[in-house]
Amino acid sequence: MRPDVVIVGAGLFGLVAADRLTSLLPGAWVMVLESTDQLGGLCASTVCPYTDIHYNPYGTHILATSDPNVWTYVAGRARMISHQRRAYADIDGRLVPLPLGLEAIRLGYGDATLTPEAARALVERDAAPHRTGRAPANAEEAALAALGPRLYETFVRGHITKQWGTSPDQLAPGVFTDRFGIRFTPTAGLRSAARWQGFPASGWGDFFSRLVDTRDITVLRRHAASVRDLPPYTHACIVTTPIDAWFDHDLGTLARGRICVDWRLTDRRTAPATATATYPGPGVPYYRTHTPEHLPGQPANPTEKVLVGYEHHGDGPNAIDFVLRTPDNAALADAYRARAHHADGFLFAGRGTTFHDDMGTTIAAALALAARLAKTIERSPAWP
Ligand SMILES: Cc1cc2nc3c(=O)[nH]c(=O)nc-3n(C[C@H](O)[C@H](O)[C@H](O)COP(=O)(O)OP(=O)(O)OC[C@H]3O[C@@H](n4cnc5c(N)ncnc54)[C@H](O)[C@@H]3O)c2cc1C
Repeated sequence: MRPDVVIVGAGLFGLVAADRLTSLLPGAWVMVLESTDQLGGLCASTVCPYTDIHYNPYGTHILATSDPNVWTYVAGRARMISHQRRAYADIDGRLVPLPLGLEAIRLGYGDATLTPEAARALVERDAAPHRTGRAPANAEEAALAALGPRLYETFVRGHITKQWGTSPDQLAPGVFTDRFGIRFTPTAGLRSAARWQGFPASGWGDFFSRLVDTRDITVLRRHAASVRDLPPYTHACIVTTPIDAWFDHDLGTLARGRICVDWRLTDRRTAPATATATYPGPGVPYYRTHTPEHLPGQPANPTEKVLVGYEHHGDGPNAIDFVLRTPDNAALADAYRARAHHADGFLFAGRGTTFHDDMGTTIAAALALAARLAKTIERSPAWP
């Protein structure tokens, strides 16, 4: 017997697609090939044996979506805890809510009494000389045109440099525009206006284990680097792993950075006071901390130690690769996608091809691809 569909990669995309395909096609058999012994890829989660705190080794993962299909899907598979993501920048020990808003402008200009109108006037004054009339060529130009030099230096330059391991003037404008921006009202740390935000009460790891707890889905531990590593299958193969590796890097290799979260049991007195905080300042070696104990639904931690993840650029035990958003990479990625488009019988999707999607976009895309593929398979003469 051969599986109807093979999926390469048991990350969020691969497992949601497998689950949806087997629901839409009763009796279908989906095989998922995964090179690690973990389910869920970057969204994997586990429990700290010392504090009993639930955490994501690769960084806190909270789903934020306004797509009813996505929320209905996850809420149908797990009890979800609603939790609005909040983000703060730590500037010399002071927590400033993100995205950048009135609180940040007041701190940046050292005037706690600035009104929204006065804040706008100051930012406009400083940003205007950086608006050249042409589209910004890189993330630094985009930030200067939106914020002016003072807020850029205080909040943005260090953050981007530490996260991406390279200067903002080497990165695409979207590195700034997708994540930062500026408002002139208080933001209170609410980074996303998405209608539904949260995570499964029993953690993403448990969510993924339940998805594959059926005889219709087989997860096989196998590194599948190319078509040569695939078992025979009847209908289709979905590839969610790095697209350049799949094609033996024959058009070139996409430039990648590496980030890593070092998890340490930290003294309660020095542990961060929020679930996530960023550190744009040059004196701090990491750019973000994760303190999952501050998320709702966690068990009481009776110990004096707090589990804290220190996220920094570079190598380490939980290191992951990510594709740098440079102009060269964008052109190469387009060339690989065009190539993938003509690879008959293969569907390329997930982070390996899209690089920077969030969980909501990833789930929506996996559900949509599974629906399209199920229709094609139903019409195929090889389908019972
Ligand atoms: C630090 C960080 C924090 C994030 N936080 C959030 C958040 O809070 N909210 C949010 O919405 N999004 C967040 N994201 C984005 C989110 O992680 C992604 O949208 C999602 O994980 C993408 O899932 P995927 O299945 O496409 O990719 P992946 O998770 O990368 O899964 C790919 C899988 O393929 C496997 N694999 C790779 N190569 C091979 C091979 N050759 N053979 C077999 N298997 C292979 C990998 O081991 C992995 O299991 C975050 C991303 C990062 C980097």
